Amino acid sequence: MATVVDTHCHLADAKLRDEVEGVIARAADAGVAQIISVGAIGPIENDRLTVEIAEHHQNVFAAVGVHPHDAKDCTPTRIAQLRELAASKKVVAIGESGLDFYYMHSPREAQEASLRAHLELAGELDLPIVIHCRDAERRMVEIVREAGIPRRGGVIHCFTGDADAAREFLALGFCISFSGIITFRNAAAIREAAAIVPDDRVMVETDAPYLAPEPYRGKRNEPAYVMRTLEVVANLRGVDATALGAQVIANASRVFRLPSP
Ligand SMILES: [Zn+2]
Ligand SMILES: [Zn+2]
Repeated sequence: MATVVDTHCHLADAKLRDEVEGVIARAADAGVAQIISVGAIGPIENDRLTVEIAEHHQNVFAAVGVHPHDAKDCTPTRIAQLRELAASKKVVAIGESGLDFYYMHSPREAQEASLRAHLELAGELDLPIVIHCRDAERRMVEIVREAGIPRRGGVIHCFTGDADAAREFLALGFCISFSGIITFRNAAAIREAAAIVPDDRVMVETDAPYLAPEPYRGKRNEPAYVMRTLEVVANLRGVDATALGAQVIANASRVFRLPSP
């Protein structure tokens, strides 16, 4: 049976947290060896709960940050709170931070300032950064070129760009993580990108509870469904799911310094 890491989901989200034990158990049964759970959405309590869940489950790890949607709330106080939370041994990354010019829930200036603050924090804490980038690939590349990628690198999560954008992010040193979006009919450009990412830079994720892959599209997503995305990405790369799963486990272990599952 193939095994893999779900490199990005939100276990503290209201849609998952009330039955988080079942969600984690179903993932383990499906072959998900480890889970990286991201806070970042809404208030700091969400990050706190994310770390707490990780501390209670051996195979769950946490990332803390401020989502670009909430970038207007990324004050120096908030950064200080994230720094404190990151003292937990279960916090393996800073994020998700980034740019979302599709929804534009926070003004562009606030998103860019928050992104820079996160890049700096990741560098300071010697952690990798998890990047959310939607309709903002060009600006993201500019800012990271200017500010520098953290020494520990990072991941472009839920990649929605094309092969050219993937090449630019790879040149900066990022890994690229594919979500259930790659299974959607209109995702031809993303599927093309999935075929060109080198073996040592590819990851998969659910971004649960959002974005369930086909054939679960529209339902609440959960980490167990990452196996479907793994199959699709493996197929596009001409390898079997077992081999790609092992590769993703190796990549996640290296970037997030996870213990062996
Ligand atoms: Zn995101
Ligand atoms: Zn996310």
